[in-house]
Amino acid sequence: MAILVAADFDADEWAQWWPRLQAALPNERLLRDRDDATPSEIEVALVANPPIGSLDGLPNLRLIQSLWAGVDRLLADVSVPAAVPLARMVDPAMNEAMAQTALWAVLGLQRDFLDYAAQQRAGIWRQRPLRRADELSVAVLGLGQMGRAVARRLAQHGGRVLGWSRSASVAVDGVERHIGAESLPAVLAQAQVVINLLPLTADTRGLFDAATLALLPRGASLVNLARGAHVVEADLLAALDTGHLRRAVLDVFSIEPLPADHPFWRHPSVTVLPHVAAPTDPCSAATIAARNIAALREGRRFENLVDRARGY
Ligand code: NAP
Repeated sequence: MAILVAADFDADEWAQWWPRLQAALPNERLLRDRDDATPSEIEVALVANPPIGSLDGLPNLRLIQSLWAGVDRLLADVSVPAAVPLARMVDPAMNEAMAQTALWAVLGLQRDFLDYAAQQRAGIWRQRPLRRADELSVAVLGLGQMGRAVARRLAQHGGRVLGWSRSASVAVDGVERHIGAESLPAVLAQAQVVINLLPLTADTRGLFDAATLALLPRGASLVNLARGAHVVEADLLAALDTGHLRRAVLDVFSIEPLPADHPFWRHPSVTVLPHVAAPTDPCSAATIAARNIAALREGRRFENLVDRARGY
């Protein structure tokens, strides 16, 4: 029996992942090339943006373990067998990285550090008035693995934190809970910074369009750390150009890498990150993936299964 690693890794990524997967799964037969086994020998697929069709025709596949946290791309791929349990990567190391990125963005906005970076490029010495943390209200959309870690860190930083999710799941100390689509306009109306940490689903795709952005108070900023397709990019640019929005901090884009001629690159009110808000750590992720493979071997329940109907 064998485990197929189906990934779009380049040579450097394979060099990082392969030894860690081998170390975490010392008693398993790992394959990079599915032709090194018969289709019926492959029981588990470890996947990271697997090429379309790479999981086709595996009659004994019993677990698909994503090495990435987001599974929207896997769910959209009709060649990924829908009847096989699909688990996603949930790693406290990633939650911590996301909390750090969100805190950096909020500090950059609160204390104008992002504007000072632009001032430096223009050779401008201009001191702006100090804004205290408790003068800022931040809305965190999505209170899952990432959103909860972010909301907790921002509540510790000080200031008002509004959290928005679909259902009343776990409470976070110091964070106001708002639930369901009907509460979104009121949440947005009170937010000077909105941090998007929603999964990409049929309900959330294109959520940040002109109508939603118009619900934000003038001078608010958007921090998108989730998926590019949550944002209608032309509507965001228009809201920045009119001055309705002050700034956008964007880690994710509809097309990645962000095309060289995309207006975001040079827009004075946009800060671009190359999808690095919470990278998967191969070391801890290999160990977490191995836990689900041990669960398969020992007949235990899998952790972090995706609810395909819900889309996350
Ligand atoms: P998660 O654990 O699945 O949490 C999703 C949260 O969103 C839950 O609180 C859920 O509500 C809420 N939600 C889902 N649909 C909703 C809706 N229609 N209305 C309101 N709330 C809704 O997800 P996660 O692991 O935290 O990941 C969050 C996002 O970060 C994903 O888009 C993921 O792809 C992205 N991500 C980005 C990076 C990066 O480096 N930029 C790294 C990792 C992940 P309930 O609590 O009620 O279910």
